[in-house]
Amino acid sequence: MFDLDKIVRENIKKLVPYSSARDEFKGKVKIRLDANENSFGSPLEKNYSRYPDPLQFQLKRKIAAIKKVPVDQIFLGNGSDEAIDLLFRAFCRPETDNVILIPPTYGMYEVAANINDVMVKNVRLDNKFQLDLKGLFKEANRNTKLIFLCSPNNPTGNSLRRKDIEFVLENFNAIVVLDEAYIDFSKERSFTAQLASYPNLVVLQTFSKAWGLAGLRIGMAFASERIVSVLNKIKPPYNINGASQELALRALDNAAQVDSWTKKIIVWRKKLISEIGKMNFVRNVFPSDANFILVKMEDAGKIYRYLSEKGIIVRNRSSIILCEDCLRVTIGTDQENRELIEILKQYSK
Ligand SMILES: *Cc1c(COP(=O)(O)O)cnc(C)c1O
Repeated sequence: MFDLDKIVRENIKKLVPYSSARDEFKGKVKIRLDANENSFGSPLEKNYSRYPDPLQFQLKRKIAAIKKVPVDQIFLGNGSDEAIDLLFRAFCRPETDNVILIPPTYGMYEVAANINDVMVKNVRLDNKFQLDLKGLFKEANRNTKLIFLCSPNNPTGNSLRRKDIEFVLENFNAIVVLDEAYIDFSKERSFTAQLASYPNLVVLQTFSKAWGLAGLRIGMAFASERIVSVLNKIKPPYNINGASQELALRALDNAAQVDSWTKKIIVWRKKLISEIGKMNFVRNVFPSDANFILVKMEDAGKIYRYLSEKGIIVRNRSSIILCEDCLRVTIGTDQENRELIEILKQYSK
């Protein structure tokens, strides 16, 4: 049975968190002289002289309504990358514990493991880009603290089978981090609706992809109240800056805009898969549930260089396991996609 107490590091359990001025006084204030801020203001049109809300309550309340997850089951990080790093620091003892990664996948999991001196066990996807459940059983041991699943997966673009994700959640005594950065582009339902069934589930989402706010650096983690309070305990006190909180709040009022862009991206995804799939130097365009496609080519390095000479930069994934000779191409605007097709057609001539 999953027992969070056995997973949290002892030093984190014992930790006395930093207590900020905002934490210590919460009543009504007439004159605020407790945080060494500049009481005159900021040299800007808008005032940012006050420290922001450490727990981003207003923003979480709006996210809670949209995602149908209670406020105290939401953690916000300075990008998903911060949540990933904090998961390592909360649960993995350096030099002792290990995590399981499923390559080819998002590179930050391995970097965060290396920074935290935590051993990585790789159980690669099968040739259909699906989970190897037997391999997971072989690799996991009692020091396995985190299993990272990414669905839809970056860079392959496909979703993992739902019943496989459920199987991992039900059969491993580790925290399962399900990265749903691309869920808005997929027909699959988010696992946020399953949080009550799985005390070991952490779902990651982000404002960086469909929401178009990569520059603001806001990532979301949805999990049990207990996991969220561990993350809140160890995060830097003001991890989401005031300007980002404000702008994200305003962006959330424009969900309809995001929806209509997402629909366009999905239409273009289908069109690009079909157009690029026809080209004579293309071996395969993999199905995608994300806002990018992975394309296997005859000589990906050469086509990468050709495109960059024409000013089009895509991601060369050729050096990555199972992605040999593959380029990852983000779906662009109408104009950008048309130019990409045109320039690729010229190459095939
Ligand atoms: C882009 C991406 C993220 C987003 O990271 P942020 O730090 O929130 O910008 C997370 N996971 C995956 C798999 C991604 O591709």
